[in-house]
Amino acid sequence: MNIKTIETYPVAIPLHKPFKTALRTVTVAESIYVKITCDDGTTGWGEAPPTHVITGESLFSIQETIKHILSPALIGKSLLAREEVLHLLHTSIVGNTSAKAAVDIALHDCFAKRCGLPLYQLLGGSTSQLETDYTVSVNSPAEMAEDAAAYVENGFPVLKIKVGKDTIAADIARIEAIRERIGSEATIRLDANQGWTPKEAVSAIQQMEQRELGIELVEQPVPAHDIEGLKYVTDHTSIHIMADESVFSEEDARRVLVTRSADLLNIKLMKAGGIHKALQINKLAESFGVPCMVGSMIETKLGVTAAAHFAASQRNVTRVDFDAPLMLSEDLIDGGMQYNGRIITFTDEAGLGITNVRTEKEAIR
Ligand SMILES: [Mg+2]
Repeated sequence: MNIKTIETYPVAIPLHKPFKTALRTVTVAESIYVKITCDDGTTGWGEAPPTHVITGESLFSIQETIKHILSPALIGKSLLAREEVLHLLHTSIVGNTSAKAAVDIALHDCFAKRCGLPLYQLLGGSTSQLETDYTVSVNSPAEMAEDAAAYVENGFPVLKIKVGKDTIAADIARIEAIRERIGSEATIRLDANQGWTPKEAVSAIQQMEQRELGIELVEQPVPAHDIEGLKYVTDHTSIHIMADESVFSEEDARRVLVTRSADLLNIKLMKAGGIHKALQINKLAESFGVPCMVGSMIETKLGVTAAAHFAASQRNVTRVDFDAPLMLSEDLIDGGMQYNGRIITFTDEAGLGITNVRTEKEAIR
């Protein structure tokens, strides 16, 4: 089972509504699809979106890294020596975590197909069903309240609200407007995407606690590099704090876990460099008694299907944020994860379960 070819395909899908966070606004989901073909005919698919402001990668850099660095390192290697192949993948270039993730996902798809098992079962098979939240972009309080109400009415009782783009007073006004509109039942989690200083974060979270706005957790309140600041926030608030952009690698995770700088971790395949590294981060977090969320970038259903298989395989993954494909105006794959509102399930197909992929160039089976 040797790797014969690694091909890349750029794709682009418009979003229903612009996705706005403290870091960026996205109107079109661009991505690179990767197809690995082995000499026994097995094929596997992966995906990497360019998230410039988080991973530092562009569409061009992802494609060039895969074509000119990762492919030459891996072609001809046997997938039956998976540890060696993954070691080569991760040591052939530093950084470039999304490009590595796309290849890692396609390798896992191939391997699970060879084993004849859905990937989540091969990785651990903890559950066969997940429930996703839905993200409310940063806008005016009135628009966010309307969006939140629409998502709850459509069957998404857990909302992730983007904050941290301007003032704390404005963020509190947004949460108050949303809570007033949707009532006390729905769960609200916040994501500041690095938008606050540590003191601003403590002040904002304490005010939300006093106003009893019912916040479940706050994700990445402070800049990614500021682990001391993250710990300051965790130590001075009672709402759970989740690290996202602060944790790419297992080494990042260890630093946050050892110093007790966050209560929860958000693992994304595009930050970790794929499933192999994500498994290591989750197991490390589990050993510290720290549960993980698994999320995604603005990815298409292909990449999120891989994240969903990883999430479903692991006991320590207690939350998922897999709404990105629901924000897109089109699907380019058949099969993969199945949505029934917030409920995500899998088919019995082996690997990622993808039965057809449509790229701009051609429909490929
Ligand atoms: Mg986040």
